[in-house]
Amino acid sequence: MKKIEENLIDKLTQEYEKKNKEYFNELKKKEKEIENTHQKIKKVLEENKEEIKEFETILSSNVYCHGIKCNECGNEIIGIRYKCSKCEEYNLCEKCELKNFINKKHLDLFYKIRKSKTKNIINCNDIK
Ligand SMILES: [Zn+2]
Ligand SMILES: [Zn+2]
Repeated sequence: MKKIEENLIDKLTQEYEKKNKEYFNELKKKEKEIENTHQKIKKVLEENKEEIKEFETILSSNVYCHGIKCNECGNEIIGIRYKCSKCEEYNLCEKCELKNFINKKHLDLFYKIRKSKTKNIINCNDIK
């Protein structure tokens, strides 16, 4: 009787250790996957460092200077720039776009641009 019990305990212990090992390996695998994902995210963040920095600047100041003048009022465009989809260089500031929407002076479609690619961010406080 004693012998049978011992055998059973042995068997259960082996089973338990086997399961434990499998579980451990599974965890290791998952850990590796998470690590790989972290590395990928790190790489993407690193590759887009400049873009992210610019967007952070825009978000923190809440204004963006395009370095382009509005064709209607002649003021520097700050905030959203509306660029005509047909005309070569026709840009409107937010206020003039709204006026244009009401009086329908310029009927082409406009692109809504938050950030001009070729221009640098200027500190908007310097303009006023
Ligand atoms: Zn304007
Ligand atoms: Zn136009």
